Amino acid sequence: MTRLHAIQANIVTLTVDVIVNAANSSLLGGGGVDGAIHRAAGPELLKECRRLGGCKTGDAKLTKGYKLPSRYVIHTVGPVWKGGGKGEPDLLASCYRNSLAIANKQGFKTIAFPSISTGIYGYPIELAAKVAVDTVSELVQKSSKIEEVIFCCFSPSDLAIYKSLLPKS
Ligand code: ADP
Repeated sequence: MTRLHAIQANIVTLTVDVIVNAANSSLLGGGGVDGAIHRAAGPELLKECRRLGGCKTGDAKLTKGYKLPSRYVIHTVGPVWKGGGKGEPDLLASCYRNSLAIANKQGFKTIAFPSISTGIYGYPIELAAKVAVDTVSELVQKSSKIEEVIFCCFSPSDLAIYKSLLPKS
């Protein structure tokens, strides 16, 4: 059984096998959680990202974690919110699906996600959190060796939304 839970934290402080970065398609750094991850990991992360040739919306790519306490980073590119009729829910679900596929393939046991797309990319948090929780719950039920999935929220209000969607533990 995989344990799913939500916490309020700065994702760069988490000691897990892998943290997920809400990156942009260049993979060359940006604001929000992306900037925080690059600052905490140090310049070696950007060097590795430069060799990856970008990432399409909904896809995910793996790098090492360098100076982060987490050993690895999965960089995924969420959709920019354009009102919800441009495939945003499917693209956001793909971010979670592709990130978990990498984690499973690598044999990672613990993974932490930020609330992808809900900052600069403008995806409404209530809708995005539901996609996140539904997609991850469904996938880990099917087959997963992952022991713990953490939804790492930056604000208390985001945490309350995630908690309302997750089963009580
Ligand atoms: P996007 O471009 O995908 O919207 P952002 O980084 O702007 O990405 O925001 C995604 C989410 O990450 C937002 O909920 C934001 O509050 C949150 N966030 C920003 N910095 C951190 C951090 N250091 N740790 C965890 N979450 C963060």
